[in-house]
Amino acid sequence: MHIVHLSFECYPVAKVGGLADVVGALPKYQQQLGLNSWVVMPRFNNDWINSRSIEVVHKGSTFMGSELFQFEIHLVESNELGFPLYLVHVPGRLDRKGVYLDEHSGYGYWDEFERYLSFQLAALQWLKSFEEKPDVLHCHDHHTSLIPYIVTACPEYITLSHIPTVLTIHNGEYHGNYDWGKTTLLPFSDFGQHGYLNWGGRFNSLSAGIRKSWMVTTVSESYLEELQYSANGLEMLLQAEKGKSYGIINGIDTDVWNPKTDEMLPKNYGATNVTAGKRASKEILCEQFNLNPEIPMVSFIGRLVKEKGADILPDVIRSLIYKGYKVGFLILGTGDPWLQNQFKEMPSELTGYFDSSIQYNETLSHQIYAGSDFIIMPSRVEPCGLNQMYALKYGTVPIVRSVGGLKDSIKDLSEENGYGIRFDNFNVHEAESAVIRAIELFKSKKRMNQIRKKIMKLDFSWENSAKNYYQLYQKLK
Ligand code: ADP
Repeated sequence: MHIVHLSFECYPVAKVGGLADVVGALPKYQQQLGLNSWVVMPRFNNDWINSRSIEVVHKGSTFMGSELFQFEIHLVESNELGFPLYLVHVPGRLDRKGVYLDEHSGYGYWDEFERYLSFQLAALQWLKSFEEKPDVLHCHDHHTSLIPYIVTACPEYITLSHIPTVLTIHNGEYHGNYDWGKTTLLPFSDFGQHGYLNWGGRFNSLSAGIRKSWMVTTVSESYLEELQYSANGLEMLLQAEKGKSYGIINGIDTDVWNPKTDEMLPKNYGATNVTAGKRASKEILCEQFNLNPEIPMVSFIGRLVKEKGADILPDVIRSLIYKGYKVGFLILGTGDPWLQNQFKEMPSELTGYFDSSIQYNETLSHQIYAGSDFIIMPSRVEPCGLNQMYALKYGTVPIVRSVGGLKDSIKDLSEENGYGIRFDNFNVHEAESAVIRAIELFKSKKRMNQIRKKIMKLDFSWENSAKNYYQLYQKLK
């Protein structure tokens, strides 16, 4: 079975968040299952891509509105990722450093829609040239969600219309929502098809993909349920399309995320020497970040945005420290400027108890998973969440709000076979109580070590999820 994944992110080529981790891992595990799984993504102008040798496998041109643009398809020659990686090169559009944001201004690109569309059109033009067409086009998020529309609605792409399309929603908050005028950039389609592009009077790429794809998946079962009543305006549509929608929880790539072999860690460890391994990692981290290794350490890693609930943390942290709790906090993330500023100012106010690193740093994130006692995820919305699974693998106990994939992957300590700390409602009081439970747990060294050993052995690998995707693909035949 030949699967083509189309995505704007793929780890380690270009990563902004969990989408990259999924697209960098799922195809590899699909290959191991015997599927011929490829990834097609933009050729960004970044160091990873520029340092690889490539073969130009296709050259073409096509129209985007009245603009004729040239493109090339590059195959990365080394098979280091475990699957074939194809890069869509659209000079002047895609060959920039940032994935979504301009590296200089920090804002989204002025022509973001044209970037998404030129990528999709070029990829489809190339696929049209295949004598043997793929068995599934697997699209990820709104950046590629016009593909199910284009192949079924636009006569120019009729030779691809029989290929089943799967759309995975990694994040239903972002829709690729534009002014209706942007529809003129799409290839010609019959007027009767235009309704598929319309949601609430605007051009909505995700809604078109949801309606036109053969199958919709989300990255956890709970998130699929939650989208029925909270999808940033698409609730009714997701209810209507529920019959073809499925939730499959993501896995983690244990080739990358394994404290035994992780080259980014100062000291490797496994379940048998977790206590010593984590202690050594914690000491290094605490020295780097002016924190006390003797007290429990709670970290947050992620985008500093409302979805992640990071805005609740300043109040929770202040409240706990001012009440005299002995607990340290570390934040790694970038996002809303006001939150970044808060986290930059707080170390001088809470010296010794709080520190932050306002940047995106993959290596540091691994070191924090290893060196922390707890990871906190107070998310408002969490389609799947990977951090909690990485934390488990590194023997770090997750403190999570019961939402989406967090609910599906973390069992509270009060439940039978529980191993994490969960709270239900998004408020300072509940988040604070959850951290207090963590502080209490930390006091019992024996219990803490038992839990660490237990969580490191939990199986959240991709094997199971890759099999679930395979079963879904078979339904499409
Ligand atoms: P989302 O995709 O919504 O941001 P996920 O939990 O699915 O959230 O995935 C987040 C991924 O991004 C994880 O691999 C996490 O470690 C990583 N990450 C987020 N922010 C940072 C950061 N500032 N530095 C390093 N890694 C980060």
